[in-house]
Amino acid sequence: MNKRILTGDRPTGPLHLGHYVGSLQNRVKLQHEYDTYVLIADVQALTDNFEHPEKLGENIFQVALDYLAVGLDPEKVKFVVQSMVPELAELTIYFMNLVTVATLERNPTVKEEIKQRNFVKGVPVGFWSYPISQAADITIFKADLVPVGEDQLPMIEQAREIVRRFNRLYAKVLVEPRALLGAMARLPGTDGGAKMSKSLGNCIYLGDSSEQVRKRVMSMFTDPTRIHPTDPGHVEGNPVFTYHDVFNPDKAEVEELKERYRKGTVGDVEVKQKLFAALDSFLAPIRERRAEFAAKPKRVHEIIMEGTRKGRAVAQSTMDEVRTAMKIAYKFQ
Ligand code: ATP
Ligand code: MG
Repeated sequence: MNKRILTGDRPTGPLHLGHYVGSLQNRVKLQHEYDTYVLIADVQALTDNFEHPEKLGENIFQVALDYLAVGLDPEKVKFVVQSMVPELAELTIYFMNLVTVATLERNPTVKEEIKQRNFVKGVPVGFWSYPISQAADITIFKADLVPVGEDQLPMIEQAREIVRRFNRLYAKVLVEPRALLGAMARLPGTDGGAKMSKSLGNCIYLGDSSEQVRKRVMSMFTDPTRIHPTDPGHVEGNPVFTYHDVFNPDKAEVEELKERYRKGTVGDVEVKQKLFAALDSFLAPIRERRAEFAAKPKRVHEIIMEGTRKGRAVAQSTMDEVRTAMKIAYKFQ
């Protein structure tokens, strides 16, 4: 049997360049080698968007379009809608007994996200405990490999601890997953912030039009210490150059721009125009495939339903083993 991949995204909006370099690129590369499940995590999206559930349906569709646009092959990869696999909720409940409150409180990513989100009425239990449900997502599929961005490492570690605990306590049913980081473990935002993130509005989306990409690039944060194009500038920590490094295939051009930037012989405008050109040619074929599938919504719905059906079958079979291991597969007649 092929080894499995499970990873996913929250349908809080369409996907962006950070998703591509952090995770999507690896999914596309490995889809023929691994039995791949991609979870559209709508239940997790609700944990901090429960006041706007009406957006989820459309967002699920948009995320599926992004998957197809970057080249995930629906014949190979199963797109699974989280809320349509109720077994995940059951496993989450069992896992809750295996994690302490103190461990959850130490999770650095959740701490950071709580700070960002500024929950007015306090942190919802659902949000605070999402690492547990994420461990259920990964382990119900018995995933070996989880392609993710750097922010997800504490979640994978949490999942591994739960698996060890479960297997020791009950029986060796679950698989300890391994994280696989992308070409860029954490792509910064267009605002120079540490992470491009849907919730922060500092994104270039995979489905953005040329004009939108141009606007977002031209208003990007650069080197704040540089006032005039003749000032020597900083390349390190400058997101415009980070993006050049990742998305501009013309390495000689990037090196030349860096050299001139450091000397103060090139302006931000030229550096950004060249970045726009590189990004636009990277995004053009993605945009085109996206439009093709967007014109066939029925086909996209079928792909989602078929993936979810196959995903649920795997989840049901794991849960049979889980209940047996836990001695709660009662045989009352
Ligand atoms: P939200 O703001 O709603 O949390 P997000 O932009 O963080 O959205 P997620 O759906 O939480 O996106 O993340 C999906 C996957 O993409 C995860 O594996 C995550 O690590 C990865 N990812 C997201 N943003 C980046 C980024 N800027 N760089 C690298 N990987 C990223
Ligand atoms: Mg996130």
